[in-house]
Amino acid sequence: MMATDGGGASVGFDVVAEADRIARVAAVLLDAGYAQCAYVGCRQWVRPRYLYCKRHAIEVGLVDGCGLCQGITASGKPCSRVTAHPSGYCWQHRRGQGGD
Ligand SMILES: [Zn+2]
Ligand SMILES: [Zn+2]
Repeated sequence: MMATDGGGASVGFDVVAEADRIARVAAVLLDAGYAQCAYVGCRQWVRPRYLYCKRHAIEVGLVDGCGLCQGITASGKPCSRVTAHPSGYCWQHRRGQGGD
């Protein structure tokens, strides 16, 4: 067996290539007029007229009359859809409520 002088050379993940890939994706999105959500730590790409992604726009109170759906998904998690319906449920969960 040959001896390695370095150590730590067996990284199965090329950080430089990954950074390059991310930079390229970002360049394409920026070129298309997209911007990243202004919420700290959020990496959602949004159209420039929206400062925040849907979820964070609601969280910071930018969207009036909208809210996250009160429904629970099939997997038992809170629904992440945004709804402006007075019932507080998205279209999908309204159907499950026996509606009007
Ligand atoms: Zn966001
Ligand atoms: Zn829902």
